Amino acid sequence: MSPSLPAELGPLAELAANLRWAWDPATREVFKWADKQLWEAVEGNPIGLLGRLGRDRMAELVADKAFLGRLTEVRADLEKYLTGPRWAQAQTPAPPGVAYFSAEFGITEVMQTYSGGLGVLAGDHLKAASDLGLPLVGIGLLYRHGYFRQLLDHDGWQREQYPHVNPHDLPLTRLERDGEPLLVEVDLQGRTVQAQIWKADVGRVPLLLLDTDLASNHPDDRVVTDRLYGGDSEHRLRQEIVLGIGGVRALYAAIEAGLVDAEPVMFHANEGHAGFLQFERIHRLMSSGGLDFDQAIETARASVLFTTHTPVPAGIDRFPRDLMERYFAAYADMVGVSMDRLLAIGREPGDQSGSIYNMALMGLRLSAGANGVSKLHGQVSREMFSDLWPGVESPEVPITSITNGVHASTWIGPEMAAVYDRVLPPDWSHNPDAWTLAGGIGDDQLWRARGRARERLVQTVREWARAQGRRRGESNLGWTDSILDPEALTIGFARRFATYKRATLLLSQPERLRELLLSTDRPVQFVFSGKAHPRDDGGKGLIRDIVHFSRDPEIRTRLIFVEDYDMQIARTMLAGSDVWLNNPRRPHEASGTSGEKSVLNGGLHASVLDGWWDEMYEPAVDGVSNGFAIGGRGNGSDAGHQDAADAASLFDVLERQIVPTFYDRADGQLPRRWLAHVRASITTLGPKVLATRMVQDYTNQLYTPLAQRAMRLTADGGKRALDLGAWRGRLATSWEGITIEDVELESASGTLGDDRDVVVDVRLGDISPEEVEVQIVHGRVRADGTIAQPTVATLAVGDGHDGCIRYTGTMSLDISGEYGLAARVVPRHEDLRSWAETGLVTWAPE
Ligand SMILES: *Cc1c(COP(=O)(O)O)cnc(C)c1O
Repeated sequence: MSPSLPAELGPLAELAANLRWAWDPATREVFKWADKQLWEAVEGNPIGLLGRLGRDRMAELVADKAFLGRLTEVRADLEKYLTGPRWAQAQTPAPPGVAYFSAEFGITEVMQTYSGGLGVLAGDHLKAASDLGLPLVGIGLLYRHGYFRQLLDHDGWQREQYPHVNPHDLPLTRLERDGEPLLVEVDLQGRTVQAQIWKADVGRVPLLLLDTDLASNHPDDRVVTDRLYGGDSEHRLRQEIVLGIGGVRALYAAIEAGLVDAEPVMFHANEGHAGFLQFERIHRLMSSGGLDFDQAIETARASVLFTTHTPVPAGIDRFPRDLMERYFAAYADMVGVSMDRLLAIGREPGDQSGSIYNMALMGLRLSAGANGVSKLHGQVSREMFSDLWPGVESPEVPITSITNGVHASTWIGPEMAAVYDRVLPPDWSHNPDAWTLAGGIGDDQLWRARGRARERLVQTVREWARAQGRRRGESNLGWTDSILDPEALTIGFARRFATYKRATLLLSQPERLRELLLSTDRPVQFVFSGKAHPRDDGGKGLIRDIVHFSRDPEIRTRLIFVEDYDMQIARTMLAGSDVWLNNPRRPHEASGTSGEKSVLNGGLHASVLDGWWDEMYEPAVDGVSNGFAIGGRGNGSDAGHQDAADAASLFDVLERQIVPTFYDRADGQLPRRWLAHVRASITTLGPKVLATRMVQDYTNQLYTPLAQRAMRLTADGGKRALDLGAWRGRLATSWEGITIEDVELESASGTLGDDRDVVVDVRLGDISPEEVEVQIVHGRVRADGTIAQPTVATLAVGDGHDGCIRYTGTMSLDISGEYGLAARVVPRHEDLRSWAETGLVTWAPE
């Protein structure tokens, strides 16, 4: 940054140093005002702008009263945002401090610390936490080469270029103490590796990024934090050790040095990558609290929340045993356990020899709470991981769900933001309740805003296409002036090119697609974008297929692939697309978020009923729905068959619903039916897709209750945690002594609404009656013999006789049909979150 910025312009540097500019249009306007041309040249990076602002221009600005006035206002607004009370300050109990760990963070396209949805979600989580005033700290890695920039060669094949990131060009400050960089050390196979810590201020939320690119490190260790998802499995393991173990050390070092305020009560692991944070915490508890390994685990897990993001087993980090042995032999010695005991934490059920270490299983075993990222994904995760809790039926597997949301101010284009400014209360960007007024958005203003955003997309795509063509050395680029029609129905598809997302589903029926594209009275146009993972030739092949299809001179102005997808391209596409297309293979999309961004921009989501869409799509009422559903709710076992069926459905939806509705201009001008859909979409979905709704859910359902319990368990040197651990151990050894002797049901008339008395006789062996609950589980029986949506009732303890204890209760039949009932004994302890986490249960014999 320029050292010679005059004092009058000092507030510019303060604005640049806080990433709130990434989502505050007023702040960006000030930078643009400072030097419009330069602002474009530095691609919207304020640090770059201030470093290159000329002396003459500075002098002009210092003399410009209007500019200085605006600068003061915007600076004051930032101050108010940073220090004023917000949602969290009005909650009782006060939400706990949270340390949020993630391998990637997508805050702005200027900082290449993300690859796709997971990172953007983490960025939106921090921004929403800031908007809500939650005391949260982010922890991640600073990649010196970020994620790659995508270039397509003449054949449409993806090439990767890795930029060199200079942290001094970014809004980052290096943490220092007494003028020296604050360093943390981690052991990588017997060699000490140092990491420095960069801090980004994301509004009110500090984000700490570790960086091993230091001259004092061995060359092999300097490159640990070189690329996001770059190297092989060993490289990945080294990164995850720095993230997890180094991350906890960096956090405490920063707190000790007074550089970060909030001491976290909760640790939130966003996906399995940061799982090793628990190894560090376990070790700390052992050395400071005199606990043994098992006791330390019991204490450490109380304050961890684990979020899983993939229903695809191949998407989970798994490390081979020999790699784990090499990197964790010293750790196992240090904590005094065998390698087998240590590796059991990540062992997969059925893997007798412990040949694989699974980071998701580590996350589940070492956390107090776990969640998936949509309702459907929660259900899929409970089934996928149910082996970890033998005896527990999947509906009761202790994995809950919180559906992802998106940060409104980041993702809403200026056209629709202006509409919301006019119609909604001023806090619409972060208050879900503000959206109840969205029904008042009029057809005229909605259509005008949509038209302007589409027009902007069209102009921008033409510029991108010209730049792409020039870079490839193509002359004759005149045709790019007729790319896309600003009046035509515009459909966007952009995301990572992972195969399960089926980017080429449309191409499976090329003739039907051509017909849509080339229609003269009701034309449809498509914009595609997205990167394939550097080692995913399958994904790269899909990109090439799309590029080849779009080469046809008739098609090339109607179907475009835009290179180098990033957050900026995403914003422009999302703002301008009338329809956002999403056709993954169900149920592989854990949530998906890009469609939520489209909704907030007045686009309509056309999607397979997967992820967030499965729970939020509402079919038509009076001919108006909040979007479009592709395919049904089945998960085909045969992928080829499912693809064909979904493609057929996709074309049906396009031809019979989307195109006719968009082009229905009954009164000769406005597509009123279309606009009614858009209004329904904004009204029903707006409040649900906000990232602040998501972070409020995390706070109310997980952070706060888990923290209350963690504080109880860890008080007095973790006394209650130790008691709980000891109790768990004793119960596990004595559990076999439990038998259910008899289950009796009275007045079995089977009449609806009848109450029936239930009596269960149980032998408990060494376990006392207060340590268990005897329950009956009842409900309608499904074809496969299991009980659908079971009701669980707890019975009351009665008298003992002949070594048996009698439990009694009543149940009422509330539905007709074949009815099932089962009795069971489960553990009970006031510090357990749910009995299921123990995996112990005894069912009555059939
Ligand atoms: C929102 C977003 C994603 C996630 O898209 P999905 O459709 O949810 O997979 C990926 N990349 C970028 C740049 C995004 O902004």
